[in-house]
Amino acid sequence: MFRFFRSTENQRLIARLLRESFHAHRFGYAAAILSMLVVAATTAASAYMLREITNEFVVYKRIEQVNLIAAATGAIFILKGFANFIQAYFMSRVGNAIIADRQRKIYDSILAQGIEFYHSTSSSELISRMTNNAQAARSVLDQIVTSYVRDLVTLAALVGVMVWQQPALSLICLVIGPIAIYGVNRILKRVRKIASQEFRSLGQIVQVMQETAIGVRVVKSFGLEGAMRKRMYKAVSDVESRANNIATLEAATSPVMETLAGLAIAGAVFVSGFLVLGGGGQMPGNIMAFIAALLLAYEPAKRLARVRISLETGIVGVRMMFQLADRPLTLAEKPDAKPLRAGPGEIHFDNVSFAYPESAPVFEGLDLTLAAGKMTALVGPSGSGKSTILNLIMRMYDPQVGRVMFDGQDISCATLTSVREKIAYVSQDTFLFAGTIMHNIRLGREGATDEEVMAAARAANAHDFISAQAKGYDTDVGENGALLSGGQRQRISIARAMLRNAEILLLDEATSALDAESEALFRDALQQLTVGRTTIVIAHRLSTVHQADTIVVLEAGKVVESGAHRTLLNQGGLYQKLYEYQLMP
Ligand code: ADP
Repeated sequence: MFRFFRSTENQRLIARLLRESFHAHRFGYAAAILSMLVVAATTAASAYMLREITNEFVVYKRIEQVNLIAAATGAIFILKGFANFIQAYFMSRVGNAIIADRQRKIYDSILAQGIEFYHSTSSSELISRMTNNAQAARSVLDQIVTSYVRDLVTLAALVGVMVWQQPALSLICLVIGPIAIYGVNRILKRVRKIASQEFRSLGQIVQVMQETAIGVRVVKSFGLEGAMRKRMYKAVSDVESRANNIATLEAATSPVMETLAGLAIAGAVFVSGFLVLGGGGQMPGNIMAFIAALLLAYEPAKRLARVRISLETGIVGVRMMFQLADRPLTLAEKPDAKPLRAGPGEIHFDNVSFAYPESAPVFEGLDLTLAAGKMTALVGPSGSGKSTILNLIMRMYDPQVGRVMFDGQDISCATLTSVREKIAYVSQDTFLFAGTIMHNIRLGREGATDEEVMAAARAANAHDFISAQAKGYDTDVGENGALLSGGQRQRISIARAMLRNAEILLLDEATSALDAESEALFRDALQQLTVGRTTIVIAHRLSTVHQADTIVVLEAGKVVESGAHRTLLNQGGLYQKLYEYQLMP
């Protein structure tokens, strides 16, 4: 138990947890701790009462004491029950509040991370962190308070009764007790490793489940059920066997304690028998109180000896939680960041060099101006840097050298919100959130009225199909819009962008073809959306480049050609080749 706290890292984690979570709930904890003290006192008092009962009734036969002793005994147990209730009540309230608090904090930490964090962390791990780590924080605090306040104080009070009644006998128990604890602790050493492995296996289960749900089409059409089942079964068995290992270790601690405690109790009974019967002059009541205290001390002592197991498992989660909270943010806002001024929406890449973390450079000294209010189409072979341009405009990343400017203002010096407010993004695979169509469009601009949402939907050619649904705008879209067709999803995402009414429109055109009618409706909607906005589109279709004012042709991170469609076509360069291949990479 004490070795656990000797590890400075564990000490640090617990100290921080106490500072961050215990402190905020100190009043709830104070109420719980006060009740725990009452529980400890009444437990000791109940052992002591046996002395009075035995001596007064059996030895002195004082009939007049019956009422008083009975009343006192009743009072002790009523008080103990009440204190137990108060204690459990406050511990649960505070515990639930801590879980909720920590979950909010964990979510905020995850949300604040840059996009590369999401690339390197699986979503299943994020999900397990959210539930598991918050729970761990609660359980560690619970353990500390319950064990080190209730159990420790109860134990101390009971030992007090023991020593007071039978000093010599107490000595025997106080020697055997620590030996038992030592035995238990040896077993627990291995629990720490298993606990963190178990957490990883749990993540595996979530991951396989998630892949099955998201990739159900691929799983079914390729007949991958067998392979998925194998992975899932393996993850499930891993968790099972680790849980069994932990259970075995935990179970082994009980018999060790039980046997040693039993021996101590037997020894004490044996010696007290002699003391009372063998003319040792001892009062039987004192012996009774001693044995009662000894028996009552067994449970808290056992829990105290085992507290390390629970702390070991919990501390793994707490460590992960703080690691996440301490992760440096790659895209922090500068302390003196100001909102961007309104402007026509000209975008300029000024000598930009950029590489993704731990990758080769994508751009080196890129200079590029994207005209305000015009539509620029980005074309180029796959991997040439088109999406990276959008990423830099959205400030998903900062360039290592150079600046990305909106109307002459460096966006890395502006507040993140003001950069993102200027932008509406329509992605290649339209993402819809759980909820209604109304909700999904309204995400474009917080606080938009129903009328504004409908106007946007009309402009996006979505109003008619939405009205045709049984519940109209209140139709549920299903998980990621599964209940709608591809064309409908795209028009909803256009309506969302329309509602945003931003200066800059970023569009990653879908490569997958829609049916002719949906395509026509989509095109038409898009045309309305782009009017008067700086539009940057990653173009995969001929119709899009025809529409664009300027076409920028990229190859391996360099602008190799730029200009109007006709001019470029006549140049006979890369654009002409791409155009002949219909642009679709
Ligand atoms: P395009 O959109 O033209 O297909 P991208 O801008 O996606 O090209 O990619 C440009 C280069 O950057 C490619 O070599 C690609 O492999 C690399 N790249 C893209 N995204 C990442 C990433 N998250 N991490 C590392 N490298 C990336």
